[in-house]
Order: sequence, then C-alpha cells, then structure tokens
Amino acid sequence: MAKIVDDHFMVCADCLMIIANDDATGLDHFLDEESAAARERELRHSIAAAQRDGNYLVVGDSGQDEEFSTSSCDCCNTSLAGSRHHCVLMT
Ligand SMILES: [Zn+2]
Repeated sequence: MAKIVDDHFMVCADCLMIIANDDATGLDHFLDEESAAARERELRHSIAAAQRDGNYLVVGDSGQDEEFSTSSCDCCNTSLAGSRHHCVLMT
C-alpha cells in the first residue's frame, strides 16, 4: 500500500517539469544546449536519488506552491530564487 514519506517536498520549476511530464525541453529556453544537457543530467540524478529505495514523487497540491522562494529545492538543492512546487514523496 502506498504510504506518504514526505508530504511537503518542495521542488523547483525545473524538477517539477521532469517529475510531472518527464520533459526537460523547457531548459533550452534559458540555457545553451550544452548547459541544458548538463542541467538535465543533474536533475535526473537528483530525482533518481530522491526516488531510491522504491520511493516515488508525485505532484502535490498546487495550492501549496510558493510563487517565489529562496529556500533550496528539496530535490536538486538549487537555491536559485524562484517558484517552488509542492510534491509528495510516496513509498
Ligand atoms: Zn530542483
């Protein structure tokens, strides 16, 4: 049975894009091709690390999103200011 491991897992917009849609193409809008590829590898690595031991991330309640935050992303640890999106870590 699915159980909640962390019900307040706040991720940055980049992580959300991959968690929600498995899509990193949006990175190209901000970065050149090489940086986007490096960032995508970093993101996928962070997400895989969060989902180790059979855990998995699901997109949470958008009502708990923060439009602007300087706290670090719970997934990739970026501290770049920006939006943080509510996810839930399940097992
Ligand atoms: Zn992130």
